[in-house]
Amino acid sequence: PNVTKHNFGAGPCVLPQDVLKKAADAVMNWDEQGLSVLEVSHRSPAFEAVVKKTETLVRELLQVPEDYSVLFLQGGASLQFCMVPMNFLRDGATYLDGGFFGKKAIKEAELFGPVNRDITQITGDYFHCTSNNTIEGSQMKSFPDVPNLICDMSSDIFSRPINVSEFALIYAGAQKNMGPAGMTLVIARDAFLDDVKHQVPAMLDYRVYRDNGSMYNTPPVFAIYAAMLNLQWLQSTGGVPAIYKQNKAKAEMLYAEIDRNSLFTGTASVPERSLMNVTFKTHEPLLEPVFLAYAESKGLVGIKGYRTVGGFRASLYNALPLTSVIALVDAMQEFENSNI
Ligand code: PMP
Repeated sequence: PNVTKHNFGAGPCVLPQDVLKKAADAVMNWDEQGLSVLEVSHRSPAFEAVVKKTETLVRELLQVPEDYSVLFLQGGASLQFCMVPMNFLRDGATYLDGGFFGKKAIKEAELFGPVNRDITQITGDYFHCTSNNTIEGSQMKSFPDVPNLICDMSSDIFSRPINVSEFALIYAGAQKNMGPAGMTLVIARDAFLDDVKHQVPAMLDYRVYRDNGSMYNTPPVFAIYAAMLNLQWLQSTGGVPAIYKQNKAKAEMLYAEIDRNSLFTGTASVPERSLMNVTFKTHEPLLEPVFLAYAESKGLVGIKGYRTVGGFRASLYNALPLTSVIALVDAMQEFENSNI
């Protein structure tokens, strides 16, 4: 294989070898057309078929109801922090003040109107939450039954079954379980989109994307193409229920070692532990750089915790093989043996 390291990076992150290979081939000569996928017009029938296929895969994998639109945008999940309130906040909204990214979303929303953080009294035009806190390593295990539920699912979409009909709008940056960076997925109930509260510029108006099949302007052609390959891979491995089973097994194995190993401790509260981002630290802070270097020497990369949080974060996204988790657990055990 070309990729030899165990990549625990939080995003952009590990992608299946087979997807990388197909994407690389298409960059050189896409499906024997004598053209690179980077060179074709986004208005060509071949690329229009890619957008259609990617949308169909999203619909099939997440069982998206008919009355929802599936849109491909740019600007990352961060642009959604402002697009959501720009389109839908009129009187105010309630935000779950969870992790680092939830706070960023609140900061943007406050530019457009009052934000209520008291989730015992959900008021306003919508309720916004983050399904998985990528930095802290905590995950919502259920969602409140409220009208107009909006969720940032950047770091756990396609990793576990969800019931799309519970949500008015879901958004996710692509660069974890969907594909490479450069594209943002939005899934939204049509009736909710029709109820936009403000006149907004075309590029910030969800309805413009819907009414133009995500092609109002030039879409991120390669990001969508690679996402299509990645979602085809997910479908061929059994779809979301099958990957969820594997994700649970991977996370359980790593949390078990964190709880057993005398040198390490988990940093997220146990009932909220994320299946995607496993955060932990050494009891003894001086051992932290030593373990990082040891892990690197074993080809285990991307486990340094977020710069403001420290410690370790092992991201176990869909494409991370079980063998990588086993390699990390082995390294933790060897490290314990050589430090006691
Ligand atoms: N929300 C969550 C939950 C994230 O994990 C991230 C980035 N990792 C973002 C938002 C920001 O995404 P982007 O960099 O695509 O703007």
